[in-house]
Amino acid sequence: SLSDRLGGVFDRLRGRGALTEADVRAAMREVRVALLEADVALPVARAFVDKITETAVGQNVLRSITPGQQVVKIVNDALVEMLGGGEGAATAELELGVTPPAVIMMVGLQGSGKTTTTAKIAKRLSGGQMGRDRKKVLMASLDVNRPNAQEQLATLGTQIEVATLPIIAGQQPVDIARRALQAAKLQGFDVLMLDTAGRLHVDAALMAEMQAVAEVADPAEILLVVDSLTGQDAVNVAQNFSDQVPLTGVVLTRMDGDARGGAALSMRAVTGKPIKFAGTGEKLDALEAFHAERVAGRILGMGDVVSLVERAAESIQVEDAERMAAKMAKGQFDMNDLRAQLAQMQRMGGLGALAGMIPGMKKAQNAVAGAGGDKVLVHMDAMIGSMTIKERNKPELINAKRKIRIAKGSGTTVQEVNKLLKMHQEMAGAMKKIKKMGGMKGMMAMLG
Ligand code: GDP
Ligand code: MG
Repeated sequence: SLSDRLGGVFDRLRGRGALTEADVRAAMREVRVALLEADVALPVARAFVDKITETAVGQNVLRSITPGQQVVKIVNDALVEMLGGGEGAATAELELGVTPPAVIMMVGLQGSGKTTTTAKIAKRLSGGQMGRDRKKVLMASLDVNRPNAQEQLATLGTQIEVATLPIIAGQQPVDIARRALQAAKLQGFDVLMLDTAGRLHVDAALMAEMQAVAEVADPAEILLVVDSLTGQDAVNVAQNFSDQVPLTGVVLTRMDGDARGGAALSMRAVTGKPIKFAGTGEKLDALEAFHAERVAGRILGMGDVVSLVERAAESIQVEDAERMAAKMAKGQFDMNDLRAQLAQMQRMGGLGALAGMIPGMKKAQNAVAGAGGDKVLVHMDAMIGSMTIKERNKPELINAKRKIRIAKGSGTTVQEVNKLLKMHQEMAGAMKKIKKMGGMKGMMAMLG
């Protein structure tokens, strides 16, 4: 596995502080193989690895894990981001806020799952899922190539109780699209889904047909449906559609199969469009929001390593908290401690776990955020930097004259120095309170 291979690469590196370029390059050769095995297209894998190499070089290796594990975590995080964001990132929604009917056009190769996905989305919209009201949906098949393709959609429509456009034999795709649009307008449908014909391969005739339909129907969404098992070929398909039709998103089908999900990364890289859904089976409710984290895990095949690293990062925060707790037990909190806390706030984007646990810190965070965030942190650090060692250990020494000197030395104002001192006083006061409550352990026990 990738884990074993990376282990080999990094065995000789144990105990070193930061990842060097040579370390990272060695690891990235293995990562590249893993990406290709997951069916990420070669040029996409190459570009991705180059980008990650830049980010990873120089990063510190957390204690209790190996550099190889650290690299896996970096790669994983970058994958999640490229795939559209992690937990909490809004699932890409369908853009239906246009004057009705909102047209959703499905495009893709033959057999990719367009017709099935059309019915799946129609079922959701008409059933009032996707966090909105029930929509009145009309489906129309523009597939005049495959015998019975229009009947296939009509049958699905009956199953899910969604209307389909009556079939008129011999009509061409653009004319069917026109008729569907008119019917949807006249009969007050909210959404019109256009299921188009595919080909076995991308060709000029198919693209011309897609362009003509898009021109007539002016779709709010054009979704490219791609079989996740397509693998290396996915890039060519995506590139062709993306170049010639204004796509708004991608649906990956057959994610229930044994595909490792590399096509997802290729799709994102080539189209730049969000992956809006994942098809996870033949049944008409087998459609899910796309989970970037899950798919990243599948591509790397290293979910266990990723959570190991996350736990290691958490335990370092706990160590920091314990060091702090020891000081608190004595009721101490000087400028050096404040400086360490400010630095941590900055590293964690103002939301450190430790900071959240200390009553005074919460207030300090809010004050910092209210005053403009990072810039204030930089100023505060400069002010503490302009203090003498004595002043840092014993801030009570700082009188009016010293305040002027500190303000000058740090390029700030006496007012700002006063604010910093006030913040310190409040936090030192909170520390004393914590001591009375029985220290950090007592406080945590109280918080449950
Ligand atoms: P089209 O030619 O693009 O319209 O493809 P179809 O919608 O007709 O689908 C082709 C085949 O793929 C059908 O047998 C579907 O049941 C199957 N299919 C579509 N989506 C999925 C999926 O997410 N998972 C699985 N396992 N099968 C799917
Ligand atoms: Mg079809």
